Amino acid sequence: MTVIPYSCQQIDESDIAAVVAVLRSEYLTQGPEVPAFEAAFAERHEVGHAVAVGSATTALHLACLALGVGPGSRVWTSPNSFLASANAPLACGAEVDFVDIERDTRNLSVATLAAKLEAAAAAGALPQVVIPVDFAGLPCDWRELRALADRFGFALLQDASHATGATYQGRPVGAAWADATVFSFHAVKVVTTAEGGLVTTRDPALAAELRLLRSHGMTRDALRAPAEGPWVYEQHRLGFNGRMTELQAALGRSQLRRLASMHARRLELAERYDEQLAALPLRRPARRGDRVSSWHLYAIEIERAAGVPSRAEVFAAMRRADIGVNVHYIPIPSQPFWRERGHRAGACPQAEAYYAGALSLPLHPSLTDAEQGQVVDALERALCAAPSLRAA
Ligand SMILES: *Cc1c(COP(=O)(O)O)cnc(C)c1O
Repeated sequence: MTVIPYSCQQIDESDIAAVVAVLRSEYLTQGPEVPAFEAAFAERHEVGHAVAVGSATTALHLACLALGVGPGSRVWTSPNSFLASANAPLACGAEVDFVDIERDTRNLSVATLAAKLEAAAAAGALPQVVIPVDFAGLPCDWRELRALADRFGFALLQDASHATGATYQGRPVGAAWADATVFSFHAVKVVTTAEGGLVTTRDPALAAELRLLRSHGMTRDALRAPAEGPWVYEQHRLGFNGRMTELQAALGRSQLRRLASMHARRLELAERYDEQLAALPLRRPARRGDRVSSWHLYAIEIERAAGVPSRAEVFAAMRRADIGVNVHYIPIPSQPFWRERGHRAGACPQAEAYYAGALSLPLHPSLTDAEQGQVVDALERALCAAPSLRAA
């Protein structure tokens, strides 16, 4: 029996043809595919500008720099995220802190953020940038976050690495609320380019800055000195090589054409999980009437109650049954690296409580109904292994 993975790329013949066509073409990098992918992504997300880069980690790093994050800046993010959300601002020299999550959505809590902002305002220590994360693909409360950003004067950098295809109040994420939004196209994500990332923004100046930063800070436009000739380029910033290749962009554009159908399958699978897990001792992912998750992850929280096996026991039983469950996420401030930088256990109790029971079940567009049935059966068996439930 092969393992049913928690996530898995879906590659079809049209994806393969798109990549092979690039291999046979003139450009492997810096050709027409990256701008075509950016244009398609921007149109799909109803936003003016899209800048493709080599990974979401690079996207977060360059977006932080473009938003002015540097030594002395304060940046806050969610503890319930992948490491990169916190590493990117730290790499820019910022002081990084965490805002605890809301237990049911597992997203950064607006109420906790508001209280922390009031305290920071009184202490003269407001953040310059806040990086909320649309966990598992469920958008945060973006209208409320925007109101706080406007009131306290910080920029909103949205980590929508999970949320390609999600909508908030009827509009795609990345369109309307954040100052910049980051997407990931890593192989386990909703749309893949193998490795890849992208930033969307409404601000043309921010987009221009991102394009500069992803290519060594160099430009052939808006030269500062009179050009000696057509070969002249100028360096205006400390930049990097953060570029996406033509192969990746062609794959991304091909995948984007299937986003709606892949998303529809994820929705269907999530709804079946909701129905079939309703009677089990676990918390299912929250839903909100004004937003649609991309359903990157189907993350449950095993109840901690008498007679219910621990998450570790359920995890082991599922893996023994060849179900590739996973855990998202160990709270970032619990990592040795962050502990060594003064972050302590207990600072984000909601993220820690969620983590203690967290388990991500397989969810991807190629998952069959029969495989989903095996996941549900294995979970029922794992949860009913405790004597008290077996007797009930
Ligand atoms: C995957 C992920 C990233 C990093 O994405 P890469 O493209 O692998 O660099 C950042 N933030 C979150 C929330 C992620 O899930």
